[in-house]
Amino acid sequence: MPPAIEIRDLEKSYGDVHALAGVNLDVPEGSFFGLLGPNGAGKTTFINILVGLVRKSGGSARVFGHDVEDDYREARDRIGLAPQEFNVDRFFPIREVLATKAGYHGVPRDVARERADEVLKRVGIYDKRDTRFDWLSGGMKRRFMLARALITEPDLLILDEPTAGVDVQLRHDLWETIVDLNDHGTTILLTTHYIEEAERLCDEVAILDSGRIVDVASPDELMDRGTDRIAVSLRDPPSSVPDLSALDGQYEAAELTEAGLAVTAQQGGLVAPDLVRALDRAGHEIVDLEITRTSLEEVFVEMTRQDDREEMEVSN
Ligand code: ATP
Repeated sequence: MPPAIEIRDLEKSYGDVHALAGVNLDVPEGSFFGLLGPNGAGKTTFINILVGLVRKSGGSARVFGHDVEDDYREARDRIGLAPQEFNVDRFFPIREVLATKAGYHGVPRDVARERADEVLKRVGIYDKRDTRFDWLSGGMKRRFMLARALITEPDLLILDEPTAGVDVQLRHDLWETIVDLNDHGTTILLTTHYIEEAERLCDEVAILDSGRIVDVASPDELMDRGTDRIAVSLRDPPSSVPDLSALDGQYEAAELTEAGLAVTAQQGGLVAPDLVRALDRAGHEIVDLEITRTSLEEVFVEMTRQDDREEMEVSN
């Protein structure tokens, strides 16, 4: 079975700008996949190539085994896209807009109307079915974009910043809807600037920076690469850092704090038991211990920043 998305050496240049500079990526069928990257990293270009809005300059892109250019129709019919921009027919009732869109994809008129009702119910704006797009609130517009992506019952749902500028309640509603779709087999490709969203939802994320994939891993694996902080409160805070040689170099730094000691380590959860034993043996009474894991956001910032530095080094 081919992957949902299969990308090989994908390139896109706009004049001198290399928006995509040789991207290789596989998104397995059924996964909830995140594409993260700072502004200008190439995410929208990547998505636009998949849906046939932008022509690639080199390499290949396949969706469920169909080349996005040579087999455009087959590839496009499997994709539902909720883009960042509201590129919607504003003058017709939203139910009509949906039914017409389904019609473009070969769905008969009566089935298309039923489907329009279903997706409007699914995203919670069925009562607005006879309203035109312009008259929806900002949050309802976002809901509608998801409904429009779902009208063709896609196998691959691409969401480009689906929760940009929406309130907490709607964000949670949208999450629930897309998690449910994914549970029922729809592959999801999500781009977001809310790193917490990726951390919460995605099985795997690719970090894209300056048109290149910097890393592909699960949010947990990425967070394991960051540094954790173990804060230990001691009954009698010491005047110098206790002897931690028993930790065998498993930590990066140790410093005194007002309450006791703070130790930074790559994998705080693994180091903490040894740290407790070492302190105990040295006669310290532990009152409290707290491990703060690096957030995906911190790892992301570090990775994309490091990449900048490397690029600067190369160009110098
Ligand atoms: P954001 O998070 O800000 O939406 P992005 O990761 O989606 O950014 P892209 O929109 O794909 O990034 O842009 C990648 C690069 O390609 C940027 O340098 C951008 O200026 C450039 N670019 C994108 N579209 C065009 C275009 N039509 N013509 C010229 N340059 C373009």
